[in-house]
Amino acid sequence: MRLLLIGAPGAGKGTQAGLLAARLGITHISSGDLLRQHVRDMTSLGQLVKSYVDKGDLVPDGLVMDMLRKPVVAAAKSGGYVLDGFPRTVEQAEASYAVVREFGGEVQAAVHLDVTRDELVRRLLARGRGSDDTRAVIEHRLQVYLEKTVPLLEYYAGREWMFVVDGALPADAVHQDIVRRIQRLAAFSATSL
Ligand code: ADP
Repeated sequence: MRLLLIGAPGAGKGTQAGLLAARLGITHISSGDLLRQHVRDMTSLGQLVKSYVDKGDLVPDGLVMDMLRKPVVAAAKSGGYVLDGFPRTVEQAEASYAVVREFGGEVQAAVHLDVTRDELVRRLLARGRGSDDTRAVIEHRLQVYLEKTVPLLEYYAGREWMFVVDGALPADAVHQDIVRRIQRLAAFSATSL
């Protein structure tokens, strides 16, 4: 199974991706976690991306694509992936589609985790993960989400493999909801899980 999770900062993408990876036996790939790891390890990529991540700006597409190409291709060839945090823009979606299409690794389902702005801010302030979870940076990341990622949701809207779940429910309930929707999709489209 090859899955995308799309949602605002704080929508619960990481939690749901972890649950789905365990349930479906697929690889969880988080662009944000990988970028933060590069920053912590002070790799050459980490040095290039640090200021973007700290400010809550999107890292340039080429850098994110180069970082993800290998793990995504490897996961697609061995059971599948749940991608959390990528693609985040229409441009990233189009560029990555061109890469994975060549070997039949296209995405089979995309899930939008829908959560109200008030709830997002509450969760992000409670999480306080680090330099990108301060109030000003949170506001900026939500703005970037509205400007860059909401158009991606519009771009995918209407495709039968794209669905929206209520991300404000408890994590367990959100998980069950996603699994039900994936099973229904698989039953109708002969998608193998
Ligand atoms: P959140 O979902 O809470 O915004 P992530 O962990 O997904 O956090 O991402 C953290 C930061 O990593 C983003 O603010 C951005 O700087 C960078 N980032 C993650 N994924 C991408 C991406 N696909 N394109 C560009 N930048 C990204």
